Amino acid sequence: MTKQTTIPSKIDISILVPIYNEVDSIPDLLNAITTALDPTGLSYEIICVDDGSKDGSTELLIQLAKSRTDLKAVIFRRNYGQTPAMAAGFDCASGEVLITMDGDLQNDPKDIPKLLAKLEEGYDLVSGWRKARQDDALTRLLPSKIANWVIGKVTGVKLHDYGCSLKAYRAELVADMNLYGELHRFLPALAYIEGAKITEIPVDHHARRYGKSKYGLGRTFRVVMDLLTVFFMKKFLTRPMHVFGLFGLISIAGGMVLGLYLTILKLGLGQNIGDRPLLILAIVLVIAGVQLFSFGLLAELLMRTYHESQNRPIYRVREVVGGGSSSKSRSQI
Ligand code: UDP
Ligand code: MG
Repeated sequence: MTKQTTIPSKIDISILVPIYNEVDSIPDLLNAITTALDPTGLSYEIICVDDGSKDGSTELLIQLAKSRTDLKAVIFRRNYGQTPAMAAGFDCASGEVLITMDGDLQNDPKDIPKLLAKLEEGYDLVSGWRKARQDDALTRLLPSKIANWVIGKVTGVKLHDYGCSLKAYRAELVADMNLYGELHRFLPALAYIEGAKITEIPVDHHARRYGKSKYGLGRTFRVVMDLLTVFFMKKFLTRPMHVFGLFGLISIAGGMVLGLYLTILKLGLGQNIGDRPLLILAIVLVIAGVQLFSFGLLAELLMRTYHESQNRPIYRVREVVGGGSSSKSRSQI
């Protein structure tokens, strides 16, 4: 995927909205964004990514985008899902700050200035927290509460509400982040792996006015799988051999010691070792150890390809000061 460069930019803010069958919400949403942002005097663009809608959202967005200069419509060929829709928004955005939000009016654009103010305090990512969330208690709030707790524990980034789409990012933070699966909710965790400063503020949340939610309980499973991916990325991304190699060597060494002991019993003392479970354990330990070790080597190779093919440095620089460099530059080097 080729990415448009987001720096340097002329626009202050890009607002990214995934749209899947939200035709009734679109006019109100655009009005609410304009009402919230015009008084700030900041320049902004609204990027609506139509994710294969079938209810007329596509036609409405195309028509509106032709008449409004502040609106860009990105139309997908089919329904890909919220994460690809957000990724497309990130790729087209030219703002210095990127705001993501839902297109169903559940997030309130009047919270955007608050997110921006918080970002100005020196954060790279400000996440919304739907303190008074207007969704079904049993099917949505409870799974979400558990998920947020687990995600916080696993990733080390404690946020009350990972699922809240309303978030503000510095553009350079997401410029080289790749999203897969339903990873958009883990962006704070991925950003944290990249060394970002993250915080959250309470935001409003409204009940769905039009249409219905696109998700059910099935999402929980996909979220858990993505969580595992993030967990492994966080733990092993730059040093798989340290983990797999270590366990591999311990396992091989254990197997060898047992093997040696059994050899002494057999050859030295003439005992029969053919029916001993210890023999099986020794063999399994050696084989498992060799496999773990080779797996670590392969992971190491894959990880290097991953970093080098994309020119991804294994570190992130916040800024460089002095020595003739621009001290204001927050961009990566
Ligand atoms: N969405 C999307 N593609 C999908 C599913 C959802 O672009 O396949 C959009 C949807 O139009 C909305 C946002 O993602 O703007 C959040 O979806 P929804 O409101 O259904 O999720 P919930 O608020 O119930 O978690
Ligand atoms: Mg919603």
